[in-house]
Amino acid sequence: MKKIGIIGAMELEVDSLKEKMELRNKEEYASMEFLEGTLHKTEVVVVKSGIGKVNAAICTQILCDRFSVTHIINTGVAGSLKAEINIGDIVVSTDALHHDVDVRVFGYPLGEVPQVGCKAFPADGHLVQLAVTCCKEVNPGIGVYQGRVVSGDQFISGHEVKDRIIQNFQGSCVEMEGAAIAHTAYLNHIPFVIIRAVSDKADDSAEMDYPSFEKAAAAHSAALVEHMLPLI
Ligand code: SAH
Repeated sequence: MKKIGIIGAMELEVDSLKEKMELRNKEEYASMEFLEGTLHKTEVVVVKSGIGKVNAAICTQILCDRFSVTHIINTGVAGSLKAEINIGDIVVSTDALHHDVDVRVFGYPLGEVPQVGCKAFPADGHLVQLAVTCCKEVNPGIGVYQGRVVSGDQFISGHEVKDRIIQNFQGSCVEMEGAAIAHTAYLNHIPFVIIRAVSDKADDSAEMDYPSFEKAAAAHSAALVEHMLPLI
């Protein structure tokens, strides 16, 4: 039976899903609260992981080990790395990578974790297609883009760092959890997709934009997740 693990880094990224789900069970591990139940008749475990790659990886592994999820969806907000992807638009991951990993000194490409054998973790094709199709139905006024999600333990809010990340990794959006979730899902052979609504442009205006747009962006992403669940 399908069981979908849904991760948001922050409360505002999962609060609407928590409110709407029929809760059956609540368990706490690693200081994270895992809510198990159904949402639109689909088995789900909804959890706030906390911010950053360590929290996100721990959370994903617990979903695999303790809840035996069959699919993982990460919902939330991100900074846009492309001029055409505006605040409010949605990015659906084709793949995800760590932009803050650098072991080039031993011959690994920038971004590749040694000995994993893979630099960019590919998202599940079916989940990607479903997210894109549902987005057009649920959020018709909003642009939806497929692309690479790049993650690091840094809030990107300056054009120099942003430009370097774009040049090195050709990402569509930048955030702080997706690659860790993708990496963990990859090691556990669990299909995943990352869905991120743009809260800022990861440039010099990000510090101002982010607080103004995070709530609405997070809600768009969660609404999309909610509607794709029964179709997985
Ligand atoms: N407001 C929070 C901190 C947010 S950190 C607090 O004070 O607790 C930013 C969060 O949004 C992360 O979870 C990250 O995944 C995402 N994000 C949005 N824009 C980003 C950007 N420009 N760079 C990095 N992460 C970004």
